[in-house]
Amino acid sequence: MADGFCSDCGCVFDLNQPSCPRCGRCPACGKKTNGAATCPRCGHPQDARRLADLERRLNPATASNQKTITQLESSWRGNQLFKRLRWRRFAALSLGLAAVSESILFTLFWSVLKLSDSRLELFIINTTMMAIICLFIWFVRRQLASGKWHWLLKPSLSTSEKNPQGVSSGPSGVEQP
Ligand SMILES: [Zn+2]
Ligand SMILES: [Zn+2]
Repeated sequence: MADGFCSDCGCVFDLNQPSCPRCGRCPACGKKTNGAATCPRCGHPQDARRLADLERRLNPATASNQKTITQLESSWRGNQLFKRLRWRRFAALSLGLAAVSESILFTLFWSVLKLSDSRLELFIINTTMMAIICLFIWFVRRQLASGKWHWLLKPSLSTSEKNPQGVSSGPSGVEQP
């Protein structure tokens, strides 16, 4: 009985299990096992020698592996959120923020600072806009990671829920003159 980490999602679990409890992949070869008792591709966890080798390689206690686990965990969480992001809302929010902050910046430069050098002005505005966008993406990611801003996420990972009423689509209702 020894723990190891999943090289796909970073989850730490007992390597005697046939697959990662979180992403369902075989810890030895990465194949999705769909709940099989042994991996259909490599036979994990039957071969004791390969298991021992795997336990040594995926030991979650070593410093370098801990670093890898942290990275995998972070990217797994990011990917899960990314899959659930409502892109239209996110785009609308970003465009709104960009429009507001850009108009504020232009007003500031034109009427308050009265800058005449337009190239310098554009350079400063572009740099500031880039910083604002980076900050915004970082902020949204942080909000989502801490469980806030649910309205930016779809409720679950189940894709394409069909309309139960089955409304017929197509060019109907064309009025005759
Ligand atoms: Zn996994
Ligand atoms: Zn396998």
